[in-house]
Amino acid sequence: MPIQILPARLANQIAAGEVVERPASVIKELIENSLDAGATRIDIEVDKGGHKRILVRDNGSGIPEQELQLALSRHATSKITSLDDLEQIISLGFRGEALASISAVARLTLSSKPSSQQQGWQAKAEGRDMTVSLAPVAHPDGTSIEVLDLFFNTPARRKFLRTEKTEFAHIDEIVRRVALSRFDVAFSLKHNGKILRQYPQAMNEQAREKRVGLICGRKLMDDALKVQSEFQQLQLHGWLCTTPQPQNDVQYFYVNGRMMRDKLINHAIRQAFEGWLPADFHPAFVLYLQLDAKEVDVNVHPAKHEVRFHQSRMVHDFIFRAVRDMLEKISGTEGNEITQ
Ligand code: ADP
Ligand code: MG
Repeated sequence: MPIQILPARLANQIAAGEVVERPASVIKELIENSLDAGATRIDIEVDKGGHKRILVRDNGSGIPEQELQLALSRHATSKITSLDDLEQIISLGFRGEALASISAVARLTLSSKPSSQQQGWQAKAEGRDMTVSLAPVAHPDGTSIEVLDLFFNTPARRKFLRTEKTEFAHIDEIVRRVALSRFDVAFSLKHNGKILRQYPQAMNEQAREKRVGLICGRKLMDDALKVQSEFQQLQLHGWLCTTPQPQNDVQYFYVNGRMMRDKLINHAIRQAFEGWLPADFHPAFVLYLQLDAKEVDVNVHPAKHEVRFHQSRMVHDFIFRAVRDMLEKISGTEGNEITQ
């Protein structure tokens, strides 16, 4: 076959493979867009585990009518403009791929109204040929994105969807993760018409702890210790529960507000707990690491689950030290000398 440029839809469907794995990944991308748009309230509705319908509504900045079509195009983003920006990303998104990818594998309707606009506008993309139709719509300030029939045109991917229950469990987990990352934003989650989760805005410490308790379990929070540690421009804060857990499911770690599952960080925490927990038991934690955006590269993985630290050793040792100091303080003993 001669070399050819792929048609836009096919190129987007291929790109979608990296970002849109299942309904929960659609929701993650949509919520991140809402947060980047400065929303303080995000409502999520899901039907049939997200197979059938996903709706994310926010009260953020909205998208002007003349940019709606662009928002659905690949590599179209309002978040970075230069390589310099890429080196210090503060927004959750920057690749300009999510909406294009989702609309290539589902029927997507984007409705939006910036407060400066009298009228809301709606763009529909049917995942067929990437053409977008625009129409006026009644909409409050903010944005709603509805995604119907995920993978309707990509049967190979549709096959990988699990049961409604499993897909919903993944969605629920994504919403928990995000809700733990932004206490200043209210979230609600509805499944098949029923509101199942509600996390009101939590603007003080008591409200924040209440939200963590709702998400991680009240009992866990009753035992949790508060972490607050600093070294140069590294900061770590959050909650750590040293009661041994049989599962490792309550382990949330955020780097500059972004949820991570990072080998280096896991290693640092595991090592700090060495000798403190019985074998096969796990600590529970919700921890937030803040550092200069220049010190971390988030452009490692399309779904942005991983990061790369420029000074990984320093980050590792800082987390190890912060956690270990905490453990030593509560047990009132000096831990064993650690050889690394
Ligand atoms: P990225 O988030 O990487 O920029 P997306 O494909 O997710 O790429 O979104 C494309 C653009 O559409 C964003 O840069 C933003 O300008 C706009 N956008 C998407 N969702 C929203 C939203 N909920 N509110 C306001 N603007 C949005
Ligand atoms: Mg995005």
